[in-house]
Amino acid sequence: MFKAIMIEKDETGYRANLKEVDESQLPAGDVTVRVSHSTLNYKDGLAITGKGPVVRKFPMVPGVDLVGTVEETSHPAYSVGDAVLLNGWGVGEGHWGGLAQKARLNGEWLVPLPSQFTPQQAMAIGTAGYTAMLCVLALERHGVTPDKGEILVTGAAGGVGSVAVSILSKLGYTVVGVSGRPEENAYIKRLGASEVLERSAFSSAGKPLARERWAGAVDVVGSHTLANVCAATQYRGVVTACGLAGGMDFPATVAPFILRGVTLVGIDSVMCPRAERLIAWQRLGTDLDIAKLNLITNEIGLAEAIPMATKLLDGQVRGRVVVDVN
Ligand code: NDP
Repeated sequence: MFKAIMIEKDETGYRANLKEVDESQLPAGDVTVRVSHSTLNYKDGLAITGKGPVVRKFPMVPGVDLVGTVEETSHPAYSVGDAVLLNGWGVGEGHWGGLAQKARLNGEWLVPLPSQFTPQQAMAIGTAGYTAMLCVLALERHGVTPDKGEILVTGAAGGVGSVAVSILSKLGYTVVGVSGRPEENAYIKRLGASEVLERSAFSSAGKPLARERWAGAVDVVGSHTLANVCAATQYRGVVTACGLAGGMDFPATVAPFILRGVTLVGIDSVMCPRAERLIAWQRLGTDLDIAKLNLITNEIGLAEAIPMATKLLDGQVRGRVVVDVN
């Protein structure tokens, strides 16, 4: 038996509870992992609370991230005792995930735990941090160098935002954060932002084009915020869009794209090819300051993940949440 958060949906409703689960119930897979830590991402919050259509099968163990050691394997790349990491691939959505003491997975989804990180640190990064790195890689790929100007990061006190601010500042970019929580401004500046702007300046309908300010951007909010960020992006600047914390819509015009040559880059971490994941994790090993990672992280137990999910969706959580599942 092992402990897991289990999401069920039936005629009595949608619910998440901590349960004892028999190992024989684990899904099919060629690697069984003894999980040490998982995390809470925005998507896990949606899954646990049922506020978004994340879970595709019931019952479901949530948790899009996990780290642990291989307990059983028939996959040639892994041996018993290997430390492994998983982000995405639909785990915690359509296949039982990381908010449990055990997981059985497809070995192709796993990556070796990078030697620079402890299991806790890997989960402090988690999908949110690895997505932040994918955004930075996209800015670089499209030629945004530190000399081009300021980089805007929205949702800066959240998981993706905190890691993005930290990485970009370490790489020498001038970073401006956007946050709806003035009490977190000092925190965002400690992570490396030179300035923090108020969320409300971005969250309602703006002009198709505004003063050109941003050389690049990492947007986790979507909706009017993303439209306003594009409208104020410099000629040939680059906006990476990875989130929908403010809404799934995109009420924009084509003006920034056709008049200023702005590039909008979509970022998906879930199905991102393995080769790019390995690059992202390797770059996290060199470009993320571990001292800042400690500043970003809170640790909780498995049972606490359920109430924390509601807080996360309410925008009350700073940085990243690591879940010690044991
Ligand atoms: P968090 O909840 O940790 O951070 C989101 C932040 O966005 C909040 O902390 C808050 O920052 C801000 N925010 C929240 N609500 C609103 C709102 N209504 N309007 C404007 N800003 C808001 O989530 P994560 O960092 O884990 O994820 C951020 C987004 O990125 C989510 O939408 C998530 O689904 C998406 N995501 C996408 C991935 C992909 O593969 N494309 C992978 C990972 C995440 P503040 O208080 O500073 O304003």
